[in-house]
Amino acid sequence: MIEAKFIGGAEEVGSLALHLNIHDIKLLIDYGLTPSKPPSYPPMPPPMDAVFLTHAHLDHSGMLPKISSAFDANIYMTEVTMAVIPLLLNDTIKVANLEGFPIPYLKEEIENLMDSVVPTTYSEKISLGSLDIIPHNAGHIPGSTMYEIQGDENLLFTGDIQTVNTHLVWGAKPVKADVLIMESTYAGREHPPREEVEYNFKAKIEEVVDRGGKVIVPAFAVGRTQEIMLVLEKMDLDIWLDGMGRFVNNIYLKYPKYLRSAKKLKRARNKINIVRKRRDRKMALEGDVIITTGGMLEGGPVLHYINYLKNDSKSAILLTGYQVEGTNGRLLMDEGILDLYGIKEKIDMELAFFDFSAHAGHSELIEFAEKCDPNQIILMHGDNREVLAKDLREKGFDVKTPKNGESFTI
Ligand SMILES: [Zn+2]
Repeated sequence: MIEAKFIGGAEEVGSLALHLNIHDIKLLIDYGLTPSKPPSYPPMPPPMDAVFLTHAHLDHSGMLPKISSAFDANIYMTEVTMAVIPLLLNDTIKVANLEGFPIPYLKEEIENLMDSVVPTTYSEKISLGSLDIIPHNAGHIPGSTMYEIQGDENLLFTGDIQTVNTHLVWGAKPVKADVLIMESTYAGREHPPREEVEYNFKAKIEEVVDRGGKVIVPAFAVGRTQEIMLVLEKMDLDIWLDGMGRFVNNIYLKYPKYLRSAKKLKRARNKINIVRKRRDRKMALEGDVIITTGGMLEGGPVLHYINYLKNDSKSAILLTGYQVEGTNGRLLMDEGILDLYGIKEKIDMELAFFDFSAHAGHSELIEFAEKCDPNQIILMHGDNREVLAKDLREKGFDVKTPKNGESFTI
């Protein structure tokens, strides 16, 4: 029997943390935060023998420094995830300082965490007592991992998954499992076909540039920025890149085996103009397209560019990711205004949204689950799980939707 408890992230897309007790071996998978204002954090978990991180995004990794301060456990993650997380964790402290929120941990605690990390790679088995744990590609961002836990029963924890191939990474492949613990971010929602999204995205860019406008593409630094660079690689335009994505490119290129094509990413990076110093931002504004953080317009260089172009109705903001309720990006989508450095301003630029999600959509999740062929499915990491649970039950699956803090058995 396996005892399980979500410390956080069961009912929402944020603060994911699952504690498992499998024949007295205690595991923690992920320990994230919710990057709201102020950020919210999951409670402390019970002690564990080892920690497994699925990927670098803060809703999975953001509170790990607290774990290494409180417990003496090895923390497993892929080499590329290990290289990326210090950037995001240090940025979390920086953002807290900028916004005047209490800092969640000290820089020393991040260093402390990195001392406890054990780098892993896909398909290489990790043995923990009677358990074997195998990391598999999750298709979400480079280095993102699904964990297959082999004990008396085979358990698969998906983390965030994308099953279709993107330019950046290959899609996740189903793994035969007795128990499937699956994310459900897009429960009840479908994605339009990727080719269609790309076609419309490029057509919109051409339209804006042809009428003499500039295109601002806000994109998350880790994953989305690189995907957008690859989408635009063949376009004959003056494209600039600003924000944390610049550093992530270089890290990804050091770990080519986690990319679908390192050659293409390198080509895209070499073709694009990089904003290296503040003065370059002026030149970027003379180009055609600026890809920049932050993805939800909460901060970062994107606000500088929008502030400059806000009255130019020829220019456009092309959003490439879901805008969470309560964020500046959502305010722009709903009301056409943005909080620019503390002042709410009307934005005259054209606004459009393109669904470049790195998560599997509703039907893709069902198809994935069917191919894993489990006896039991546990849905997590979604605020609309019941819709997906209903469809899976209709297909004959035993589905659980546990709540945060509720102990359950598997
Ligand atoms: Zn993610």
